[in-house]
Amino acid sequence: MSLLEEIEDVAPSVFLLRGWATPNDISSNCFFLKNEASGELLLIDCGNASERTSREIKAAEKELGGEIAAAYCTHGHPDHVGGAKAVPSQTPVFLSEKDFFLIPESERNRFTPLKADAVKFGDFDLKILRTPGHSLGSVCFWDEERRVLYSGDTLFANGAFGRTDLPGGDEKELFRSLDLIKKLGWRVLCPGHDEVERAEASEK
Ligand SMILES: [Zn+2]
Repeated sequence: MSLLEEIEDVAPSVFLLRGWATPNDISSNCFFLKNEASGELLLIDCGNASERTSREIKAAEKELGGEIAAAYCTHGHPDHVGGAKAVPSQTPVFLSEKDFFLIPESERNRFTPLKADAVKFGDFDLKILRTPGHSLGSVCFWDEERRVLYSGDTLFANGAFGRTDLPGGDEKELFRSLDLIKKLGWRVLCPGHDEVERAEASEK
């Protein structure tokens, strides 16, 4: 019934546009949170700068019947921020300032420094957790009410975690960040790549 095969619902009013990886092209998962009252969408991670990403983001907006009101990037790597160009220029795209150095200087003004520690969007209340390690400015978004964690490249399904060998990466910091998010008791883990994971028993 979906026009776009890649769109899946992963939690109430939360939709996944699945990322992909080919030998020369990698694009992150993109999560669309829908404000059912206004129809507006909040985008978590923008995918890469490819034509395919632009096309799919636009198709997702159409299919979900709303426009992107704001986008939030979990960190500044190109497979997560490149798709910002598919987001209308008047729509803010938030990114931790600590990751601005990863963005080519000429493209930095597309991004708004992420300073808040929470996002309120319709009935979504997301806490912004600073989780450095994969990059200096990596963040996770924690929806405590739905117990959904958007973990970027910090934590993946089945306990896998992000690499720390890229600029700004730090293994010690990553393990500290993983300790922090392991305590949350998420029910749905929405990582920056690959599968979404559902935990039955992670909650105490
Ligand atoms: Zn990354």
